[in-house]
Amino acid sequence: MTEKSLIEQRFRDIEANYREITENINAAALQSGRKPDSVRFMAVTKTVEPVYINHALSLGVDLIGENKVQELLAKLPYLRPPTVCRHLIGHLQTNKVRKIIEEVSCIQSVDGVSLAKEISKQAVAHGKTMDVLLEVNIGEEVSKTGFSPAELLDSGAEIAELENVRIRGLMAIPPVCENEKKARTYFSEARALYESLEQTLKGVCEVDTFSVGMSSDYVPAILEGATMVRIGSALFGPRRY
Ligand SMILES: *Cc1c(COP(=O)(O)O)cnc(C)c1O
Repeated sequence: MTEKSLIEQRFRDIEANYREITENINAAALQSGRKPDSVRFMAVTKTVEPVYINHALSLGVDLIGENKVQELLAKLPYLRPPTVCRHLIGHLQTNKVRKIIEEVSCIQSVDGVSLAKEISKQAVAHGKTMDVLLEVNIGEEVSKTGFSPAELLDSGAEIAELENVRIRGLMAIPPVCENEKKARTYFSEARALYESLEQTLKGVCEVDTFSVGMSSDYVPAILEGATMVRIGSALFGPRRY
């Protein structure tokens, strides 16, 4: 096959995947007693070339997530539309906050108070307010970043006091699970924390985003109340590093 026909084939795959995922999301939302538009779809674009990202955007995707600062910055000039809503979803080093502060509308991976303080400082310096999600390490895995469930609420209350930072909710990546039932237990624990966070911050921040669910588990995540799912490989195909 020529390079052109390979690209066209991948465009068609992305279209078919997008249709299928959208149908699954809508069905799961209805099954959980909610309207389909109560679940926001994020296309996770790490390792994906801009030509394919832009194809997804042309299909109606309106939110993308990248997990590395450098990769996001490198792709920015090529995105169409350039104004597409972007979130950072990967671990952020304090010394890179400055580089990203103008380029994303939300940082979903806030995993420490000192990081939040730097976001606040840079947000003030740039005259903007940054939406953030608190990342919770719901399975308390040593390999993962995020607040432990035990420290989440106290740290959330402290972060909520910072200038120009607005906590919008919670993000979690549960441990890899052998079955859907086990996965739902983690989502359900995360959901309980999300609701406690909402209570704790009542009148301080409008907590409305529960970001859980990826390619392999977005349906059980929605059944447990996800308001945002972050999907990469099910949309774009397996990642090629
Ligand atoms: C890569 C990534 C995803 C998407 O993973 P898939 O399994 O490809 O859907 C979601 N969230 C975060 C934080 C990621 O790094």
